[in-house]
Amino acid sequence: MRLSLSQISLTAVVALGVILSTSWPSAEALPVGAINRRPHFSSTPLVARSAAALKSYDQHRVVRVNIQSEDQLKILTENEDSLHFDYFTHEKNIGGNIDIRLTPEDFVKFQSLNIGYTILIDNLQTILDQERDEDGQYQQKWENSKLNKVSMNGVAFPGNDDVFTNSQDWFSGYHSYEDHQTWLQTQIKKYATIASAFSAGKSFQNREQAGIKIGNGPNNVVFHGLQHSREWITGSVVEYLIDQLLRGTDSRVAGYLKKYTFHIIPIMNPDGFVITQSSDRMHRKNAQKNGECLGTDTNRNWNFHWNEGGASTDPCADSYMGPSAFSAPEAKNIGEYLKKLPNVVSYIDFHSYSQLWMTPYGFTGKRPDNYDTYLKPLAVGAVAALKAAGGTVFQAGDIYNTIYPASGSSVDYALSVGVGAPFAVELRDRGEFGFSLPANQIIPSGKEVWAAFTYILDNLKTK
Ligand SMILES: [Zn+2]
Repeated sequence: MRLSLSQISLTAVVALGVILSTSWPSAEALPVGAINRRPHFSSTPLVARSAAALKSYDQHRVVRVNIQSEDQLKILTENEDSLHFDYFTHEKNIGGNIDIRLTPEDFVKFQSLNIGYTILIDNLQTILDQERDEDGQYQQKWENSKLNKVSMNGVAFPGNDDVFTNSQDWFSGYHSYEDHQTWLQTQIKKYATIASAFSAGKSFQNREQAGIKIGNGPNNVVFHGLQHSREWITGSVVEYLIDQLLRGTDSRVAGYLKKYTFHIIPIMNPDGFVITQSSDRMHRKNAQKNGECLGTDTNRNWNFHWNEGGASTDPCADSYMGPSAFSAPEAKNIGEYLKKLPNVVSYIDFHSYSQLWMTPYGFTGKRPDNYDTYLKPLAVGAVAALKAAGGTVFQAGDIYNTIYPASGSSVDYALSVGVGAPFAVELRDRGEFGFSLPANQIIPSGKEVWAAFTYILDNLKTK
């Protein structure tokens, strides 16, 4: 649970008292929620993100516009570049909600557009500070566990095991890029009889798009997280699915591993992910320099109906499509991997946030031939299973008609190269925390997505 602002200031007062008295208060003396805030001394340096190096979003607002008319939509589109809209969500149709981040200066200009809106987040930096604070506490404990080879509850691991094999501890927080790599290699080594390593290729800055193959069935299923680097929950949920396939208690798993081979890449856009941890938490794109601005939106860069709407030609925009199709190596590598691999029966590209389970197409309102008979029932069944698992409500449908036009996206491309059932999924939440989803929602998110995922696996057309 996130602390309220009043709790944060209370903690600050307690912390000041601590400094002045030079002794730590007992846990009982601290307010509820602040107990874990007592400093832990560790001999290892923290990998936690340094506040000083990160771009500030002080006074940036996230506004929500409920679209009432085509005219409103037109005004927003006409002003999106000059007012530097950072679209957090994209539901650009009548009745839909669009969430937009605005600088304080652009917010003033936005108000003069006379479009109705509500304030979703009054000061984005407050949310980011809470996230970093929680993250810092977790990282202290995590580093101690790594160093001392004990779980966060202080239990020693048998043999050569370490905290990277402890699912409960791993999924209780977000992690550094380096720790994600170690986690993946640890699983591959530990489950070598059913898992192996692969890479889809290298990113622009030469990082591997590292993956794990699980199972040995004739039907291939490919999925990844973190195409958009600020959507941290997606990497964690993808890892949760890996964890379930390797050591989960679901009795169906042995059957899945005979029927399918899973090709899973937790971090599709590693350069962007490193940027979100080192300099700009809100970075969405890859790390290619485009003039004065950093990054191509890899999910507007896939080589199928590229540059046909719902993507920006402005290199500074967050949905910048790049100078040409597949100019982004991250998209090109996975695209070629999908094209070469025979019998890919499903592909899932995980995003956040909005709670949607979507099918092609994004570039056109025309639906694929098998939309009504196959793709839509799969998506509808997946969200029903997801809801049954914990109550969270997702919406199902094709991208263009349900949400927004988006050309050059991964799932349209996947369908074009013969993938059976491609999905673009938007995970939790619906805007309360947005991209800074608290870590205590990782396991609940993983559980509900596992339920949806197994529904898909149980109903795919296979060999
Ligand atoms: Zn995304």
